[in-house]
Amino acid sequence: METKIQSHVEIDLLKIQDNAKAIKAYCNRKLIAVVKADAYGHGAVQVADVLHNIADMFAVATVEEGIELRQAGIRNPILVLFSTLTDTVDEIISYELTPTIDNWNLATRLNEAVLGRNSLLQLVPIEKAYIHLDINTGMNRSGIPYLEVRDFIDKLQTLNRLELEGITTHLATADEEDHSFVNLQLQRFVSSIEDVEKSDTGIPFFHVANSAATISIPDSHFDAVRPGLALYGIYPASSYFVDLQPALCWKTHVSWVSMIDSGEGISYGLTHKVKQPTRIAAIQVGYGDGYPRSLSNKGEVLINGIRRPILGRICMDITVVGLETTDHVEIGDEVILIGKQGDAEITVDEIAKKTETIPYEILTQIGKRVKRIYA
Ligand SMILES: *Cc1c(COP(=O)(O)O)cnc(C)c1O
Repeated sequence: METKIQSHVEIDLLKIQDNAKAIKAYCNRKLIAVVKADAYGHGAVQVADVLHNIADMFAVATVEEGIELRQAGIRNPILVLFSTLTDTVDEIISYELTPTIDNWNLATRLNEAVLGRNSLLQLVPIEKAYIHLDINTGMNRSGIPYLEVRDFIDKLQTLNRLELEGITTHLATADEEDHSFVNLQLQRFVSSIEDVEKSDTGIPFFHVANSAATISIPDSHFDAVRPGLALYGIYPASSYFVDLQPALCWKTHVSWVSMIDSGEGISYGLTHKVKQPTRIAAIQVGYGDGYPRSLSNKGEVLINGIRRPILGRICMDITVVGLETTDHVEIGDEVILIGKQGDAEITVDEIAKKTETIPYEILTQIGKRVKRIYA
């Protein structure tokens, strides 16, 4: 492998596979593997490739993300999690994506778009489109009101080129210890689907659980679970019944080492001044790579298996860290931003806590310029 001095991410796809298998074994339900936002920075196509035999369905956030998977040859059903504008209906049908709908206008436009259209995958005429129905049970960002579900489903029966394959809702507080609002949402969900009859093949099937619910709230599992973060080995909730392994390691290299005199300041604004002669190293990563600038004077990295403090402000491309005077750190030495080195480890969770955000944001902000290397 060619080593470059800039930061790169190493992704262990087998760990993602193992996480998916562990989740399936624990839940014993269909698995809808969420690979939106480029699989939380892990690479949607690569992740889908290693999960296509394990996942019953993939889920993405946008039609474009679905098309990317189709063009890469992924043939599993692909759920688009959020309702789209009606100008995407032709692509949804031709690429055989499964839209989630929560309004009548989109439903009728999809029904019309089926007519006379060929599948781009099989070059045969398409007869009907599978859709999922999103119910708002309290998240209040999408879905039809839970009290209107029966009427909506009755109306859907009149659109005979659509087949209601799934019914879903999304939980607002599954990652919290107190499950009372989750229970209320589950009650609302169950009451709204009470009268729905399933076909012999189990359609429509019901799915609710995000990662937190998948690993910690069995009552939310229904017919399929829909985890994202957990696939990548990160726990969204503090209690869980499944063992997961993180799949991503973010590395860079030392690009400069120097001694500076007592009283010198470091990086823009000289916000860190050293009180004695200090050995420092520059590493090639910055906020231009998605490394959070709010780790300035706060974060740590690993070099030679030892934690090193970030000194001064993180720049767009370079970050400075403190060394011990006796350290043998040289240009080209490996630096861990996220991951393990020797016995030491820096987790995505640690970085999220220090920067007052969530692991999701840290992962999805890892920039385009950071090369992904797969094992
Ligand atoms: C993102 C998303 C998920 C997955 O959430 P995780 O917390 O990553 O498991 C599931 N369902 C919907 C509707 C989502 O938007």
